[in-house]
Amino acid sequence: MTYADNTRGELPSFVSHLECSRSGERYPAGELHNLSDGGFPLLVRYDLDRLGAAVDKQALLERTSDLWRYREFLPVTRAENIVSLGEVTTPLISLSRIAASRGANRIDVKDEGRLPTGSFKARGVAVALSMAKELGVRSVAMPTNGNAGAALSAYASRAGMKSYVFCPGDTPEINIAETGIQGAEVFRVNGLINDCGKIVGEGKAPTGWFDFSTLKEPYRIEGKKTMGLELAEQLGWSVPDVIFYPTGGGTGLIGMWKAFAELEHIGWLGKKRPRMVAVQAEGCAPIVKAFEEGRETAELWENAHTVAAGIRVPVAIGDFLILQAVRESDGFAITVSDEAIEAGRTEVAGQEGLLLCPEGAATYAAYLKSLDEGRVSADDHAVLFNCATGLKYPLPRYGAELNLAQPVDFASMVR
Ligand SMILES: *Cc1c(COP(=O)(O)O)cnc(C)c1O
Repeated sequence: MTYADNTRGELPSFVSHLECSRSGERYPAGELHNLSDGGFPLLVRYDLDRLGAAVDKQALLERTSDLWRYREFLPVTRAENIVSLGEVTTPLISLSRIAASRGANRIDVKDEGRLPTGSFKARGVAVALSMAKELGVRSVAMPTNGNAGAALSAYASRAGMKSYVFCPGDTPEINIAETGIQGAEVFRVNGLINDCGKIVGEGKAPTGWFDFSTLKEPYRIEGKKTMGLELAEQLGWSVPDVIFYPTGGGTGLIGMWKAFAELEHIGWLGKKRPRMVAVQAEGCAPIVKAFEEGRETAELWENAHTVAAGIRVPVAIGDFLILQAVRESDGFAITVSDEAIEAGRTEVAGQEGLLLCPEGAATYAAYLKSLDEGRVSADDHAVLFNCATGLKYPLPRYGAELNLAQPVDFASMVR
């Protein structure tokens, strides 16, 4: 049973208002919102003094091990509105053999592939769709590179809502199929995710659907924020030295940064922050380019391509928030090649038994590159985010042929 199955009625709620992430302008909670009037993402603000007084770490330990254990930090006000498929706490898996062979202190992978629909998109969508239900939304639409659409489809069906998902035509087939079978109307668009986003925006008036695009509604960040809450709790209310995050729209990076600030405000974390490293692919690196050029916002990346579909995002509406978090944390932004992504996936799977998704493998490749370049130290405790199960992605063909008509040559098998 999930938390939602066992609970009814009012939840402890500490949301004070929503705030434009650019101007600081305030908007009332309890109403549907997309972007601020200025066209920027809205952030959910809480009465943190009251929140801090209402939760204690000891009581948390007795709760179900899912993201709703952090309900005081979340915006949903009534339990019946929670739409859940069992958003489990994801494990930290240490790459101890690899760390030992590279002389590194500690490398952990936060394995988000264990979540419903096989990716961390479930965190954001679970919270945002619960809020949509609370605020009376009946149908939702979203552009996606795959995993977000799959999560939206699943949670919308669970909530009894209609969903519409638009993805680039070359989105991995498994994502299109899972999205379709879970109930969404799914469309293949001969363009990139920003082209799909345009369709969703233009469709709002004629269809009445609610625009669920990344950061265009305030609550997916809150769901993704639970990665930061969870990580800090798993580390005994402390943070690692450095976090490598595969950055597309940046929701997770922005969300974790917000989580750490909220935890510091209520006294559960000290001043120390992890250095936040935004990882992108060489073939689509608008944030890295902006970081290196010292800009506050990023430019559209032309001809975006990479095997890591989840980070093929040529333009991110939260670019300035990603760049702010990276800089405030004394972190950096870095690219990796598709070859390094593939090699990283093979190495971690073969040596540690952990099959990463290409985006997760990108964080591993970025970690190695950063270590080589001296941008992180072997003494650092590094956390890499594996955002989806590796099983959702095409894999190379393995398996030598054995012919039953001939004797089996065991000697040649053993290596
Ligand atoms: C969506 C996605 C990302 C990027 O996440 P953001 O928080 O939007 O930057 C990375 N990896 C995978 C597998 C994804 O599905």
